[in-house]
Amino acid sequence: MSIGLIDVDNTRFPNIALGKIAAYHKSLGDNVEWAMPMFGQYDRVYASKVFVFTPDFSDHYDCEIVRGGTGYDIHSVLPAEIDRLQPDYSIYPYIDSKTAYGFLTRGCPNKCRWCIVPVKEGNVHPYMDIDEITLDGQRSNVVLMDNNILACDYGIAQLEKIADKGYRIDLNQGNSARLVTDDVAKLFARIRWIGSMIRFAADTPRQLAEVDEAMAKIDRYREALGKKPAQYLVYTMIDGDISECYDRLSYFRSNKRMRIVAQPFRDFNNPNQTIPKWQKDMAHWANRRELWASCDFKSFIPRKGFVCAEYFNNNKTSAI
Ligand code: SF4
Repeated sequence: MSIGLIDVDNTRFPNIALGKIAAYHKSLGDNVEWAMPMFGQYDRVYASKVFVFTPDFSDHYDCEIVRGGTGYDIHSVLPAEIDRLQPDYSIYPYIDSKTAYGFLTRGCPNKCRWCIVPVKEGNVHPYMDIDEITLDGQRSNVVLMDNNILACDYGIAQLEKIADKGYRIDLNQGNSARLVTDDVAKLFARIRWIGSMIRFAADTPRQLAEVDEAMAKIDRYREALGKKPAQYLVYTMIDGDISECYDRLSYFRSNKRMRIVAQPFRDFNNPNQTIPKWQKDMAHWANRRELWASCDFKSFIPRKGFVCAEYFNNNKTSAI
């Protein structure tokens, strides 16, 4: 068979499902390549779309088309015989031979209103073993995309294994600082983090305090082990009251080891949602670290003749 692949989102991040589909078809002796609408001849094309808001592809293929991924259907899953495979990394040549991607757990016990993970994957549960993902240590730098690994005893046991084996990891979703107990902080201090980067989520003022507390514990245990201080990243949402968002997004500005990634609330049930201008401007400011660190949002000039302080005057956010 001749198989074409389409990564509809086309981000700089590898599409793991397509990697597994490629591995599966190559194991059957099929030819697999990125779909070429002008020149390719395929028996089947797989299109994968992760994000609801990504437009569908528009090219025509005269063959069977299989669409999958949360962006098409939040309940779509890979068949078990494909899902358990490790991705064929060769379809993403920029991934070096020591790096792997995967999940140790799936799901989340929480129900944040903006998030489809619990709807799609259910409560947190074991998924894979770290040695499967590293191919028994051949790919020892691992990007893990678990959504709430600390909410799962199995996940914590896997992190212990990672620390014992000396694998380097990036837990690239926002971890819950509330779940960083003393034992977890000790464990985090032992782990080798890619880029020394530890990530948390903080969408409320209370969570900012929890991040502060978690960082202090981790820093203390790292120091005791003779390690240099970690770098931190906080994912945060822009939604609701502009003053609350301003305070929350400004909270860590003076911390030189911190950066934030902010995004406006996206309503998955409303594809026609309009993001308010102030939220776009605030995300623009927060996501450019040098800007965020050096310039107060109220002084930020996103375009000629407009200073963001105006958003705070006369409740202008609803009009702009
Ligand atoms: S904690 Fe994270 S993964 Fe879980 S529901 Fe909230 S946003 Fe989603």
